[in-house]
This record gives sequence, structure tokens and C-alpha cells, in this order.
Amino acid sequence: MFHRWKIKYKLIATMMLVTALGMFLVSSAFYFTSYGALEKRLHNRINTQMDILAQNIGATLLFLDESSAEEMLSSFAVDPAIVVAKVNDDNDAPFAFYSSGPETAPPASATEFVRDLKVGEEVVGGLKVYVSHREIVEQGNQLFLQSVVIFIISSVVVFFAALRMQNVFSRPILELDKLSQEVTETNNYTLRAKVLADDEIGNLTSHFNMMMAQIGERDKMLESQVRARTIELESLAEQFRHRAFHDELTGLANRALLTEQFDSLVKSARRKGKSFAILLLDLDNFKTINDTLGHNVGDELLMAVSKRLVQSVRGDDIIARLGGDEFMVVLNNLTNPEDAELVAQKILDNLRRDFFLSNRTLHVTGSIGISLYPVHGEDLVSLSSNADMAMYQAKQMGRNMHAIFHQGLGLDSEFRMLAQTGLRKALSKGELVLFYQPKLDAHSHEVVGCEALIRWQHPQRGLVFPDEFIPYAEENGLITELDTYALRQACQQIKWWEESGNALPVAVNFSPHNFADMQVIDRIKNILDETGVEPSFIEIEVTEATLINNAKQATDVLNAIRELGVKTYLDDFGMRYASLEYLKNLHFDAIKLDRSFVSGILSDEKSGRLIQGIIALAQQLKVGIVAEGVETMEQASFLADNGCDYLQGYCFLKPVPETEFMSWYSSHKTEAKVLMSSR
Ligand code: C2E
Ligand code: CA
Ligand code: CA
Repeated sequence: MFHRWKIKYKLIATMMLVTALGMFLVSSAFYFTSYGALEKRLHNRINTQMDILAQNIGATLLFLDESSAEEMLSSFAVDPAIVVAKVNDDNDAPFAFYSSGPETAPPASATEFVRDLKVGEEVVGGLKVYVSHREIVEQGNQLFLQSVVIFIISSVVVFFAALRMQNVFSRPILELDKLSQEVTETNNYTLRAKVLADDEIGNLTSHFNMMMAQIGERDKMLESQVRARTIELESLAEQFRHRAFHDELTGLANRALLTEQFDSLVKSARRKGKSFAILLLDLDNFKTINDTLGHNVGDELLMAVSKRLVQSVRGDDIIARLGGDEFMVVLNNLTNPEDAELVAQKILDNLRRDFFLSNRTLHVTGSIGISLYPVHGEDLVSLSSNADMAMYQAKQMGRNMHAIFHQGLGLDSEFRMLAQTGLRKALSKGELVLFYQPKLDAHSHEVVGCEALIRWQHPQRGLVFPDEFIPYAEENGLITELDTYALRQACQQIKWWEESGNALPVAVNFSPHNFADMQVIDRIKNILDETGVEPSFIEIEVTEATLINNAKQATDVLNAIRELGVKTYLDDFGMRYASLEYLKNLHFDAIKLDRSFVSGILSDEKSGRLIQGIIALAQQLKVGIVAEGVETMEQASFLADNGCDYLQGYCFLKPVPETEFMSWYSSHKTEAKVLMSSR
């Protein structure tokens, strides 16, 4: 109960209580000492009176003079305190008696005073006086009354004094209390309490103020920390969002972002009555680069490619990396769907420019498949898969191309699945066979060798051409096995021909994947040893792609191949880069002019002049020249007239199975003989 009182009342109560206790003790002491003094004074008075009387009254006993004795006793009447007085003889028998009132016996409350009555030295009786304390009690009461009055008056004074005094203690505390309440309610830490005293409470207030200042500081610091943390968290959340929707390597969008934005793409296209196109880009020789130069260079290239892509399209188009070397570009707001092809070509042109990475020059090309919304699909899945089919079509067309989706592609996609899964089995089941195409001397038309070209004799689909399955073999790494297989078959063939007296050199095609390490040398050596074929009967054809990505490694492998005695040819020369550097620095036995080159020589003046230039250069470098894809005799004679060494093409013979090739070869030999003898 006391605990719940306000501090003010506690202080007043405490002061009052303490004062009351003090007053009580003081008054009691005063009362009892005063009372004791009164009593002492009374006793002295009585004793004095008794002494005086005792000296005279003894004689009355001697003389048995009762009346005198009583007269003497009656002198006590002057003192109202004496109520009864007796004189007894020496036998203690009553002799004289005095009473102030009618009573004959003393009241029980009276105090007895006794004195021996002597005459000379002899005790003759006794005097007994009974004294009433009424007088003292009355005076005591008066005293008590006075004490009470003083007590009351001083209490009142103390109360008012306490009322004022408590202020000294309680005001600073109440101030503090008020302030702390205000701070709690307003969170305003700039408020300060007034320091009202220079004592402990004053210190308390100062400390309180200091504490407030500290809390204020800390509050500010916390607030700024919280603000900083919030900004940090927001940016982190943004980063997470970004990461979820973007490709980490290139910073381009990823499939998730495309999927998320697809609905709004569709809506916007519908609203504006426009179309959009999906371009699926796959780099043609990326796997080789990655395998031969390592992932770091591969990554660098992907980043550089993504920059080129950004440069090739408009700001509102979306570019995403779907994984590996596969990119998707969404061309927005197409009024004219054919524009997609223009952009695709622009992308391919931009990609074809040299990439300068880590002190290296890299060349890449890409193949692009295009599908259009809404004609080729209305959802992302069908648009993507149709663009994918078109992309494979572009690859089959010879890469570095773009193709737009059409319904006929569906069939091809079916085969793609088959190729992906069936190729390894086909290899072990002997479904892969070599066709041969002759290579003739440009002037004498004598057969100087042949090229082995692989075919898949598919049990359901019939004859499948290499362009349809080589890309998968390159993708899944089966290509080196396939090329080794082709080389072994070719060697066995050489051996059989040799046995039948028709020994002919055979050219085999080696994919760039063979040049990633030196193991290919062992493979070639083993096959030569196994079959016993003379190394110079083997010509290995490689494309420029082999050299572009890791020229040093490829050069080492090529040199090692040459050291075995095997011949090396640079295939498809002029199709992509026609780099004269390679011709100068690498000692190929011959270059093979790409058939796209050859096809234009008569119709296109520029091609003709270019071929003349290349031939002149090759002659200077003492490198043989094979023209492939020769389809007409006009082409054949143009090439021969311009210094081309060898010819290969449909105009002589298409690639055919071995038996067919041999029968053609036999008749061609006799024909040539006839021709020669007739000349
Ligand atoms: P390639 O090495 O450039 O082979 C020449 C291609 O031109 C062959 O196509 C051949 O049939 C075709 N050809 C020959 N003469 C003519 C002609 O007068 N006109 C036209 N239009 N074409 C002609 P094929 O057999 O379809 O081979 C395509 C490509 O597949 C080859 O191009 C070669 O790069 C690759 N290839 C073939 N066999 C193998 C192999 O065993 N290993 C590897 N890695 N690649 C191979
Ligand atoms: Ca070839
Ligand atoms: Ca070729």
C-alpha cells in the first residue's frame, strides 16, 4: 500500500512519522521527568511536615494527651495531599487520628509515610501519614494536555514544512519522470531534464541527460545502419532477381526471363498487330574452341559474342543465352516478318569478324534458325523447337547460314533424334560405309587418287549423307572414333586394291576435334602398322577451322602427321577465311579449293580472278591445288588452263560405293589409254 503512494506522500509521511516519533519520545521524557520532580517535591514537603510534627507529638504520647495529639495532627489540614494521619503507641495501638474528610481509613491508592516517634532516644510510638497523589495526577494531566497540544501544533507545523521540503526531493524526480514519459511517447531523444539541484538527484538528472544524448546518438547511428542495411538488402534482392533471370557469364537474359516475358511479348504483338521472331543461334565451331583452347577462352569468346549480338539488334529486342553456345534473340515489333532474315544475316556478318581474345585471333561462325510468331507457333515451346529445327537446317546447309522454319523440317528433327542415339550403334554395326570419288590430274585426266566420303546406310531411312550426322558426331564427341573408323576402312581398301593391282592413294577427312591432342598420331600410326599401308598413300584433309582456334597445337599435330609420311591437304579453302597465312606457314601438300568457289568461276568474273590469284600463289609456295565440285567440262578446262593440278567433281564421278568406283576406274583407265593411243 505504502509502495503505491506517490513519492510526495511518502516523503511527507516519512517526515511526519519521524517527527511524531521524536516528539513522542521527547514529550514522554519531559512528562516522566516532570512527573518525577512533582512527586519528589511532594515527598519532600510531606517529610518536612512529618519531621516538624514528630519532634513535638512524641510528648503527647508520654502524657497520654490524645487531644493535643489530635490537635497537632489537624495541622496537616493545610496540606490537601495528606488525607489521613495516625499516631500509634509503642504497641501499635491507635492513639490519635486525623482525616481530611469523613473517611476513617486511608484510601488504597494513598502512599504511606511512617516515622518513629521518639522522646530522647526512646521510641514511644509511630506516626503514619497517608498521602493522596491526586494533586500530582492533576498536574500530570495538565502536563499531558500541554504535551498533546504541543504535539498537535508541531505536527501541523511539521506537516506544512514537510509539504514544502518534499519538493526539494520530489520535484527533480517528478521532472525526470515526466520527461521520461514524454520521451517514451515521442521517441524524441533531444529532450533534456532541468538540473534543479546540485546533489545526487542533480547528478542523476545530469546522468539521465547524458544517457539520453548517448541513446540519441546510438539511435541516429542505428537508424543510419538500418538505412544502409535496408539499401544493402534491397540491392541484394535485386542481385538475386538479376541472377535468377540472367546468365551469369554474359549478363544476358536467361530462359527463365524469356519465359516470364513471353506473355507480355504476345500481348504487345497482338495489341500492335505486329509479329515477333525468335532467332536461335548456335556457334558452329565452339566445341572445338572449348576443347582445344580451354574453357577460359571459351568463356571469353561467349562474352565477346554476346557483345556482338547486342550491337546487332535494337534496344527493345531481347537477347538470351540458353546455355553453352546457344543464344536466343527475340526481335520485337516486326512489321515485316522477312526483316527477321535481314537481322539474322546482320548477326552472322557481325560474328564473322575476327575476335581478338587473349592475344589470339579467333574466328567463329554461327547458324541461326528462325521462327515467327504467330505463324510458326503461339507459345514459347513450339516457337523454340521450330527455331531449333530451322537452326539444324542451317547447319546442314553448310553452317554460317540462317534458315527460317517450314513444315518440312519436322521430318528432319525426327532424324536428328535418331542420329543422336543411333550413331554409336551404327558405327559398331558397320552401317557407316565409305564412298569414293576420284581425283584426276587436271591435264591428263588420269586418276591420281580418290577421296573417301562417309555415308550412313540407315536400315529405315536409306542412305544418309555426312552433313546430316557429322554435326552430331562432333557434338557428342563420337567424331574422332568415326574418323578413325573411316581411316581404317580406307587403309584396308588401299590394301585390297593394291592386291588387285589398282593401288590408289585415298584422302580421308579429319574433323578439327582430332587436333586437340597428340593421341591422333598414335591412332594413325597403329592403323598404318595394322594394315601395312604405305603412309604416302594416305592424305588427311583438314579444314581451316582446325587451325583457327589453336594454331600451335594443330600445327604440331600436322607436322607429326607429316613426319609419319602421311600427306596433308587443306580442305574447303576459300569457303570461310582463305587465310594465306596458313599456306605460307604450314607445309600442306595441297589445298582443295572449295566447291562454292569453283561453281562461280565461269559466271562470276571476280571468282575467276580470285582463283587465278590463289593458284598463282600456291604455285609460288609449291603447294598442289585440287579443285573440288567440278561439275562441267568447261570448268575443268578453265581450271586446268589456269594452272590447277587436280580435279574432283560430279563431272567425272559422284562419290560411289567401292565396287562401282572400281568398275568406273577400270573403264576410265582403258578409256584414257584409248584416248592416249588415239592422240
Ligand atoms: P568435303 O570434304 O568438302 O567433301 C566434298 C563434298 O562435296 C562431298 O559431299 C561430295 O559429295 C561433294 N561433291 C563432290 N563433287 C561435287 C560436285 O561436283 N558438285 C557438288 N555439288 N558436290 C560435290 P559429302 O560426301 O556429302 O560430304 C560432305 C562433307 O562431310 C565433306 O565435305 C566432309 O567435310 C564431311 N565428311 C565426309 N566424310 C567424312 C569423314 O569421314 N570424316 C569427317 N570428319 N568428315 C567427313
Ligand atoms: Ca574433303
Ligand atoms: Ca571440301
